Amino acid sequence: MGKSDLMLAIEDPAGFVSALLGWFDHSARPLPFRGTRDPYRIWVSEIMLQQTQVATVVPYFQRFVRQFPNVEALASAPLSAVLKLWEGLGYYTRARYLHQAAKRIVQEYKGRFPEQFEEWLTLPGIGRYTAAAIASIAFGQRVPVLDGNVMRVVCRLCAFDQNPKTSANQRKLWQFCADLLPLERPGDFNQAMMELGATVCVPKKPACLICPVATFCKGRAQGIAEQLPRMAKKAPVPHYTVAIGWVVKDGRLLIDQRAPEGFLGGLWELPGGKPKKGETLPQAVQREILEETAVQVDVGRRLCVVRHTYSHFQVSLNVYECHYVGGKARPTGCAAVRWAPFSHLKNYAFAAGTVKIFKKLGLEW
Ligand code: SF4
Repeated sequence: MGKSDLMLAIEDPAGFVSALLGWFDHSARPLPFRGTRDPYRIWVSEIMLQQTQVATVVPYFQRFVRQFPNVEALASAPLSAVLKLWEGLGYYTRARYLHQAAKRIVQEYKGRFPEQFEEWLTLPGIGRYTAAAIASIAFGQRVPVLDGNVMRVVCRLCAFDQNPKTSANQRKLWQFCADLLPLERPGDFNQAMMELGATVCVPKKPACLICPVATFCKGRAQGIAEQLPRMAKKAPVPHYTVAIGWVVKDGRLLIDQRAPEGFLGGLWELPGGKPKKGETLPQAVQREILEETAVQVDVGRRLCVVRHTYSHFQVSLNVYECHYVGGKARPTGCAAVRWAPFSHLKNYAFAAGTVKIFKKLGLEW
């Protein structure tokens, strides 16, 4: 593939690389997954950082590597323990894939991490960006990265005034990053581009006055940096109303586990669901509890309403106090059911919306 046309925007690529790396060496945030070439720590952090801010990831990362200090420890842990440590971080498929990939690294690679970008791509949960980040940072492979931060920086540097998300433009941007990548320190260069986007060339008000590459920036020179990148308008996020049951019997709370595959797979929650057409919320919660757990209830007052935003939709969780009437709890529409003592709840990995309900109802979490 030939050089990207966007490279014409950078008149002195070597000067750009040197200015960026010099800044990175002195100004990068000291993060617990920086300054290491340990592929395990880099891999875990990159998976956590997908869709999640650095400040949120740091305490999760520290707890995770404390409990699972290496790939063998992670591979031999039960999935429930991995999900428990992930509780509240969201996008739980990441945790399941991380666990699956750890097992494959132990079984197929005898615990030795693959070094090549192409090998990483074959592991669960690893896309082009993550494979390139790990291969370049841990193993010094010369492969470019393009995440949201880098995309914003590149669009501004080159005054790239088009929707960057079309496939043709994605190809151009990846090619630009590949062309700019130096032979020396490609992993540091990739991290420096991401760090610049995260701390200086931020979405709303880029700090051009302190930017180490301001003299190379066409977007700044043309006074359009803040308007870039030109993203297509997002579709509105759908909203659902959900009825949830709070069923207590003999001091134990009725909880159920979602099926292992799919959205929030393997996580625990309170039984409930969306009303069918013409159904009231109390009717819906009564039906859902029976369908999921074979437990019959009478529905009492509404205890609270909790709003929660998932990646692609929002929910209002209407929690109803329900009184046990009969039936032996069994998983008739879920993976497992428990009458859990309140003191044991913390042993289960719950969906983030359920944790919000617990907090709203005064449980310590
Ligand atoms: Fe971003 Fe401003 Fe730096 Fe350009 S000069 S890369 S717009 S922070």
